[in-house]
Amino acid sequence: TEPLLTVDRVSTTFRTDRGSLRAVDDVSLRLFPGETLGLVGESGSGKSVLGQTIMGLIAAGGSTTVSGSVRFLGRDMQALGRREQQRLWGKDIAMVFQDPMSALNPFKRVGTQLTEPLRAHLKLGKAEARQRATDMLRKVRIPEPSRRMDQYPHELSGGMRQRVVIAMALACDPKVTIADEPTTALDVTVQARILDLLDSLRRDSGMAGILISHDLGVVGGRTDRVAVMYAGRIIETAPTRELFRSPRHPYTEALLAAVPRIQDTPHTRLESIDGGLPDMTKPISGCAFAPRCRYAKQKCFDNVPLSTESAHQADDTRAHHVACHFPLGSGTGVPADPGATT
Ligand code: SF4
Ligand code: MG
Repeated sequence: TEPLLTVDRVSTTFRTDRGSLRAVDDVSLRLFPGETLGLVGESGSGKSVLGQTIMGLIAAGGSTTVSGSVRFLGRDMQALGRREQQRLWGKDIAMVFQDPMSALNPFKRVGTQLTEPLRAHLKLGKAEARQRATDMLRKVRIPEPSRRMDQYPHELSGGMRQRVVIAMALACDPKVTIADEPTTALDVTVQARILDLLDSLRRDSGMAGILISHDLGVVGGRTDRVAVMYAGRIIETAPTRELFRSPRHPYTEALLAAVPRIQDTPHTRLESIDGGLPDMTKPISGCAFAPRCRYAKQKCFDNVPLSTESAHQADDTRAHHVACHFPLGSGTGVPADPGATT
């Protein structure tokens, strides 16, 4: 199968007053039809910047440099005209913002915000767009959908606002959704329910998706594959079950050890990873994780570990790639059974 989305050697760099910061560093990944890919890493690892670069929300210009290519169904996004790009990004690739306040306009009625993209992208008439928008609200399980259409965002509860945002993203039947978790989750339970809803809607329609989270536990039960990011790079990619069962990168192993498990008491939990991400405005000579890695050897400080990814893998959805000089073998301190998480 052909990938829906191909990210090829993408780097996103911001010029800051401390020097240039390479937030995304030579990242390649593919998203196949119907699959959900988890993009995981701690805050500052570049996962949100990558998601926004794929979405075209971060583009070259000013103090930002973007290199590499993003192809959607074989078409190079950067080569498309601005109008064509916007058509794709609004309709075929949708971002699900989980912070509803940043996605909704407080001065416009819910109905107006829902029908505008339907009229613009799908060229629906007024009545038709309203009908479809109301149906979408019903689909995301908002009570009294036709009454909600005439309300303003502040008249809805936080959970309902999040559902409206999902309805907006899914209204035009996108082929791909990209969901980025909010940095400050208001309520973990509401958040989980929203992700579950997104999951079931995605499964029903066969949509592909990228789920961005700092928490491996969150993506565990909700994705087919996981890509782990560290300091702007993807350091491990594997089918989700396999990644949980036998992580090969020491960073992934450490992240898994930090996933709270149901049977754990607060005291046995969280074997946290000491230290923080490296200063990404400074060049890194070897493995970016080396200062925090308990397996690091001299080679790790001298040479950048390259991913084992071969240029053209026949069945990429089952491949396990790792960028480490000394990847873990199976059976080395394997943590949680994925079924026991979340
Ligand atoms: Fe650890 Fe070396 Fe692998 Fe980096 S390359 S993760 S330092 S073992
Ligand atoms: Mg983020």
